[in-house]
Amino acid sequence: MPCVSRRRCSKPSCNGTAVSTLTYVYADSTAVLGPLATYAEPHCYDLCQMHSERLTAPKGWEIVRITPDPDALKPSSDDLEALANAVREAARPRYEPGAPLPTEVPAGSVEVARKGHLRVLASVDDAPAPLQDPIDFWDDGRDFDD
Ligand SMILES: [Zn+2]
Repeated sequence: MPCVSRRRCSKPSCNGTAVSTLTYVYADSTAVLGPLATYAEPHCYDLCQMHSERLTAPKGWEIVRITPDPDALKPSSDDLEALANAVREAARPRYEPGAPLPTEVPAGSVEVARKGHLRVLASVDDAPAPLQDPIDFWDDGRDFDD
């Protein structure tokens, strides 16, 4: 099994290696998905690649995906591997010949705003009905019985 120092996905049902950190900004009804945080903070949740890509926001919430600035990037070997995966993912065709030009927006999302290197994405999924608590939206594996 992987080294215990590895950050794990916060989803209780997932043992994936965390690759990004999700932060809920309740005041702005915004979920910020960015590079793995250096240390854990309140309202931060590490997510693996799969759950990062699957992340969708409840209605009324926005997801801001932070794209690392290539100029500021000083990758470690782990980061290089993640970067290579990201490049391969980005290079994968997402459109049919004759279809509208491809965008940089992940499947299932639509870009609604751009602020510098921040992109504001809105989900266009036929997502399940929105929940009152956004945490419950992604934390479908939680099984507390206190
Ligand atoms: Zn996961």
